[in-house]
Amino acid sequence: MVARVIPVESFDLVVFGATGDLARRKILPGLFRRLAAGQMPEGARIIGAARSDMKRADFQKMVGEALDEFDPKTAANKALRARFLDCLHYVQLDVATPAGWKALAKQLRADVVRAFYLSVSPSLFGVIAAGLNEHGLATAQSRIVVEKPLGHDLASARALNAQLSTGFGEGQIYRIDHYLGKETVQNLMALRFANALFEPLWNARHVDHVQITVAEDIGVEGRGGYYDKSGAMRDMVQNHLMQLLCLTAMEPPSRFEPDALRDEKLKVIRSLEPVLPEHIVRGQYRAGNGQDSYVTHSENPASKTESFVALRVDVSNWRWSGTPFYLRTGKRLRARMSEIAITFKETPHSIFPGMDHHRNVLVIRLQPNEGITLRMTIKDPGPGGMRLTEVPMDMTFSEALALEIGAVPDAYERLIMDVIRGDQTLFMRGDEVEAAWGWTDPIIAAWEAAGTTPSAYDPGGSGPEDALALLHRDGRKWREIAV
Ligand code: NAD
Repeated sequence: MVARVIPVESFDLVVFGATGDLARRKILPGLFRRLAAGQMPEGARIIGAARSDMKRADFQKMVGEALDEFDPKTAANKALRARFLDCLHYVQLDVATPAGWKALAKQLRADVVRAFYLSVSPSLFGVIAAGLNEHGLATAQSRIVVEKPLGHDLASARALNAQLSTGFGEGQIYRIDHYLGKETVQNLMALRFANALFEPLWNARHVDHVQITVAEDIGVEGRGGYYDKSGAMRDMVQNHLMQLLCLTAMEPPSRFEPDALRDEKLKVIRSLEPVLPEHIVRGQYRAGNGQDSYVTHSENPASKTESFVALRVDVSNWRWSGTPFYLRTGKRLRARMSEIAITFKETPHSIFPGMDHHRNVLVIRLQPNEGITLRMTIKDPGPGGMRLTEVPMDMTFSEALALEIGAVPDAYERLIMDVIRGDQTLFMRGDEVEAAWGWTDPIIAAWEAAGTTPSAYDPGGSGPEDALALLHRDGRKWREIAV
């Protein structure tokens, strides 16, 4: 297999918040692995910008330690490690004050791609975008990269888009949803649009329903303050689950190009029906099985924030009318598991007497064991009549492609390199983000107005009882949360 690697131009990548957790854990180790893979061009420079008073050597030492901690295997190659540290520069900069911007300007070269990665609190996104503009750093060759939360409702998302667009055109703004950087999520598009097999069946005539689950086994430990202002609907559904829904439900784009793809995703969001109150279940985990409750880590002992949400979503268009999409996400559930499961309709007629109705289910596993399973009905071997049984046809990508562990690039690695290449295909467009909030806002407003308390659920299970009832009422059943 010959992989097509698109060359990366030389660049200056400024990481605002370079001393923070996200930069140390994900961004800088991700860039290091790209260097190890031979993708870092000669002369590429990574410029850390943060408030801490440190010299270049201090920053290099800090990043070296982060590499040793978060990617010890690659960092064991001392020559590579040294080459990476050599790409690093540092500028002390409090973005809220005028000082420091000049020093940053001096570091930047005029003739290379320039990218600004905002790995800081979203409250600083607008300040930084304005600062880059005012100090003349936002050139035509520049790109700006931001990540969720991209607003907390439609009004704030619009305000953020307006702030970003003071110095940057839409073609220069890269909004990360790291789910789009996941290999399996991209594989969903390969599965749908590079195989003739599935697309004819991919519609309400053949699909009974779709389940999208993103389950976490951990709780909100240490992030209660942040999570209280967000909850599962804002933190997960509006962005990650919405993206998965869009890629599953969208029409085939005419080309694998940024706007062709994003136009189709936007059409899906615009086709979503408002969600009926009886089609939503909110939950919050209580204490149990030796685990703390949600409120133990909340700043508000009476918090009504949902750590779980399940909802039925109806996509009102010719392809999907009548086929519900059930979305579910939560913390402190039985396992860490993310999947998209397409359940097909029953055969129109059974020729086998007494046959239980088996349904084909196509499962796209995002984690763990990324891969695809198709559940099929076959004959149970042996004499004694035609007994049928259900079996999985299972493909784990790492086995199918004989990949070594760690060979698949992390979502961030892929996305950062796409920024440098100028490829926006896997990034969200401003109107997409706004449309997603436009659909989410009334749902949140309705439950805030009703003052409903989320249903309590036990840690280590599959969420509140009423989430089960949501599907039972429709004569369906959730798939098990298990690995
Ligand atoms: P952090 O608190 O660990 O780091 C914040 C960084 O911002 C530090 O380097 C700090 O020096 C810098 N900073 C703060 N105020 C500044 C100022 N006035 N001027 C210049 N620099 C300033 O935060 P984090 O966990 O790295 O998260 C950064 C952003 O990424 C947040 O918006 C967060 O929501 C988002 N995010 C984080 C994660 C994660 O895994 N940590 C995942 C997804 C999204």
